[in-house]
Amino acid sequence: MRLVLVGPPGAGKGTQAVNLASHFAIPHISTGDIFRSNLKAGTPLGIEAKSYMDRGELVPDEVTNKMVKDRLSHDDVKPGFLLDGFPRNVAQADVLRAILAEKGTPIEAALELLVDKNEIINRLSGRRTCKNCQRAFHIQYERPSKDGVCDGCGGDLYQRDDDKEEVIARRLEVYGEQTAPIIDFYVRDGVLLSIPAIGAVDEVTKRAIDALSGFRSKN
Ligand code: ADP
Ligand code: AMP
Repeated sequence: MRLVLVGPPGAGKGTQAVNLASHFAIPHISTGDIFRSNLKAGTPLGIEAKSYMDRGELVPDEVTNKMVKDRLSHDDVKPGFLLDGFPRNVAQADVLRAILAEKGTPIEAALELLVDKNEIINRLSGRRTCKNCQRAFHIQYERPSKDGVCDGCGGDLYQRDDDKEEVIARRLEVYGEQTAPIIDFYVRDGVLLSIPAIGAVDEVTKRAIDALSGFRSKN
């Protein structure tokens, strides 16, 4: 399964990606997670990315595309992969198509998660992220068993700098202006699949798996 998750920040891409990657036994590749891991490790890539992330802007394509190209050259993507947060504009979608065309392994589905704007703001403003494994929790909707501690790895939870109100507004603008056009890009490629992403996390996962299975058997 070669899958791209599409949807605004806070739609639940990372949350669903964990479940879907486990279901399909494929690696979950999140460009946001890779930037944050680099920042934590103090690499030049992480430091460069931070200046954009903190303002809610996209990291330049040159940097992001190179990073993704490198990641997609690893052996673990042979059975497939799930991209979360990439592509984020049409130029990145073009680059991804070219990388995959070279290998003869095009994207099979672009799964769009549909969530209304109020819910997105609630999700982002209450999100808490694990410092260690980057799993997302929510102070109301997806509470960890123990406050401030990740259920998965025991790491500390924190509020991302870009989940503060001022940056959220800019990230949603950037989504509308730069990222939303990739939906038409994938419609034209005949691979777009959209599902409502409201309801319990496991219900959304089931909806996604059912939709993807139906879609694959038709194609
Ligand atoms: P994205 O990766 O698209 O930015 P996340 O997966 O990090 O989004 O989810 C954003 C926030 O919404 C997190 O706090 C997460 O716990 C919460 N969340 C995710 N899915 C749901 C859901 N189905 N219902 C309620 N909250 C959710
Ligand atoms: P995310 O974790 O997906 O919410 O991404 C957090 C931030 O990382 C974004 O607001 C961007 O600044 C940066 N980022 C993540 N993915 C990309 C991408 N594909 N292109 C450019 N910037 C990105």
